[in-house]
Amino acid sequence: MPRDFLKDAKDKYDVIVIGSGLAGLTSANILGRAGYEVLLIEQHYKLGGLATWFKRPKGHIFDVSLHGFPYGMLKSCRRYWNQKIADRIVPLRGVLFDNPQFTLKTTYDRESFTELLQSEFGVTESTVKEFFDTARGMNFYDDQKLTTKELFERFFPGRNDITRLLMEPITYANGSTLEDPAITYGIVFSNFMSKGVYTFQGGTDLMIGLMQEELENNGVDVRINCSADKINTENGKVKSVTVNGREIQCRSVVSNANLLTTIFKMVGEEKFDKDYLEDARAVRVNNSSTQVYMALGPEDHIDRDTGDLLFTSTADRFETDLLLSRDVTSRTFSVYYPDTRPHDKRERHLIVSSTNARWEDWANLDDEAYEASKKDLIETTLDALEKYLPNARERVVFSEASTPRTFYHYTRHYEGASFGTKFEGLPVSQALPSQITGLYHAGSVGIIMSGWLGAINYGVIVSNEVDQLLMQ
Ligand SMILES: Cc1cc2nc3c(=O)[nH]c(=O)nc-3n(C[C@H](O)[C@H](O)[C@H](O)COP(=O)(O)OP(=O)(O)OC[C@H]3O[C@@H](n4cnc5c(N)ncnc54)[C@H](O)[C@@H]3O)c2cc1C
Repeated sequence: MPRDFLKDAKDKYDVIVIGSGLAGLTSANILGRAGYEVLLIEQHYKLGGLATWFKRPKGHIFDVSLHGFPYGMLKSCRRYWNQKIADRIVPLRGVLFDNPQFTLKTTYDRESFTELLQSEFGVTESTVKEFFDTARGMNFYDDQKLTTKELFERFFPGRNDITRLLMEPITYANGSTLEDPAITYGIVFSNFMSKGVYTFQGGTDLMIGLMQEELENNGVDVRINCSADKINTENGKVKSVTVNGREIQCRSVVSNANLLTTIFKMVGEEKFDKDYLEDARAVRVNNSSTQVYMALGPEDHIDRDTGDLLFTSTADRFETDLLLSRDVTSRTFSVYYPDTRPHDKRERHLIVSSTNARWEDWANLDDEAYEASKKDLIETTLDALEKYLPNARERVVFSEASTPRTFYHYTRHYEGASFGTKFEGLPVSQALPSQITGLYHAGSVGIIMSGWLGAINYGVIVSNEVDQLLMQ
């Protein structure tokens, strides 16, 4: 008999949360803490969604998306999780840029950027100030026609080098491009600039473990290996969810699964208005990425001065197409020193190389071509790493590649999207409850609501809406 992962689950809950990404986890926690009966289901055997990690023989533990987030995570974790989680959020020390246009090191905050823009790029103090104030003043209700490219042209005309400095890390952090609305840039850039880049000390495994503990303390019924097959509705209202073939009643559903999967696969087109469906069909998913995970031998180490995040590129200019190209020129190296997991006595030094990528470049390769492409990705990454880690090829004792197909496999996101959908996904996600009472979506969407902080904050917003509905 196959194991029943829903053993002893109730027949009815106030809320069913589908998916345990950071948005789903946060919604479940807030609603459980508020006293609602919450069932959290995750199709994978692990909680966390893209906030995940994996172990390999000889004690290597790799984090998949723990590279850096804004300081705002500390406040959100303290308020919506607990002090123990918030206390582990610490700053990264050094960010390096290295490309044919410039090489520099920064703490990646407003003070450092103000200084660099003047001393290295010759911008006047007043222009720098005006740019920062404009970016910080942006909000969701602004004119959304202005693109990021136009924003940069307004302040730094013809300066592709400045565009690169300002844009490269944000493209990496949320997949936004120069062609996206400027607010997708301004909001995220300002969040980072307020105090620099932060990380979670202890690793993703520890954070998700602490979150699971908190969920259970708040009475949330947490189930892994449980897939939501169908969201059932009646008279325009949520009625139940079919999970691993079993129907469980509920008053409300928060779907943390991909927005388009939620609408088209779990609910079904026939349940929505024509206009809404048209908007939903027009939503573009955001890009995916490739990564190469590398570990050094047990006796080896990386000099602390190398930095934590290295934005490297061999491309002469900064352009969106080049960033996504299969012919990789840009790589972001995240360096993990032993203090990433201070409790781990093995003191390992690890490097993860990430590059944004397109689903279609990987989706249709046959097995042989796929394996060969992954091998090529590892080899070319080792070549590129040599500049920052001398003798990299001999020193890296373990390496493994992931591709857009890997992300699809583990999260079921359309096209392996790393950052949900493009901007137009946000209003479609927000309008879901106006189509079906009791149905909400929380998760990486619209660029702004993606990344660890964006996903957590969207989970908070949606749980408040669910609370208002359930109180009625
Ligand atoms: C390579 C990479 C690097 C990144 N680096 C950073 C970074 O440095 N900083 C940062 O802030 N962000 C980073 N991100 C982005 C960040 O990880 C994500 O935006 C965020 O974790 C997404 O959270 P989410 O709540 O949207 O859900 P997701 O993490 O996407 O999780 C959705 C969950 O729903 C589950 N699910 C789907 N369908 C079903 C179903 N039918 N039934 C049950 N469960 C289902 C999935 O299994 C998954 O667990 C990175 C992402 C990637 C891929």
